[in-house]
Amino acid sequence: MNAFDERIARADELASRSSAAADALRFYSHLAQFQKRVFEELNAYGETDASVLVRYFPALLEMVRSSAPTTLAGFSEADLTTELILAEWTGTPPESEHARFFARAVVQPFAESLAMRGTVATESTPSTCPFCSAKPVVAVLRGEGGGGKRWLLCCMCATEWAFRRLVCPNCGEEDKTRLPVYTTPEFKHVRVEACDSCRTYIKAVDLTVDGHAVPVVDEIASIALNIWAAEHDYSKLESNILGM
Ligand SMILES: [Zn+2]
Ligand SMILES: [Zn+2]
Repeated sequence: MNAFDERIARADELASRSSAAADALRFYSHLAQFQKRVFEELNAYGETDASVLVRYFPALLEMVRSSAPTTLAGFSEADLTTELILAEWTGTPPESEHARFFARAVVQPFAESLAMRGTVATESTPSTCPFCSAKPVVAVLRGEGGGGKRWLLCCMCATEWAFRRLVCPNCGEEDKTRLPVYTTPEFKHVRVEACDSCRTYIKAVDLTVDGHAVPVVDEIASIALNIWAAEHDYSKLESNILGM
């Protein structure tokens, strides 16, 4: 099973457990199937030019028309340009979350395929991705000799890098009394790691509590925590592919 198969299987499984996020997870499953095809093709050709991604837009639009929320259905091929792709790839702020969805849908598998073929120095602990400089979309906690370790997962290329546990990845705050953690019985393995200095948060998926979790998918499944965090005046460090 490759990373995309794992995401698809996890999204289908979590969607079937009648959660509030079922629609989002079903759509994500279709999206991950699309991204898997893009990833495999780019990898087969050793593609390194982001501008070729524009050729995947017609298939993406077709997938969106048959299974996406209606807000995305208003886009046509004329809106989806090479410029949109290159803006996302170079970190230019998007014109809208909806436009960004289309750009990220094709840039993610491209970036992931580049990261897989390249080498990434993950010894340092920068607050953005050491491979592509994008922000982390979720943190991952893994048991390691009992101490546990925190990793950050890149929203673009899916690279994971180690990051100190008690440091805000947005502003570098280290005072643990300003770094509250929120949990709820509804999601035992997902928590909100917030910072009272910069008012941002990132969710963390604890694999020592649920070893079957697939962080990028479980992050989507726990949308309820985003709503809670927004109500408490925290903004998310980086939105996921669905713009949440
Ligand atoms: Zn990255
Ligand atoms: Zn902070």
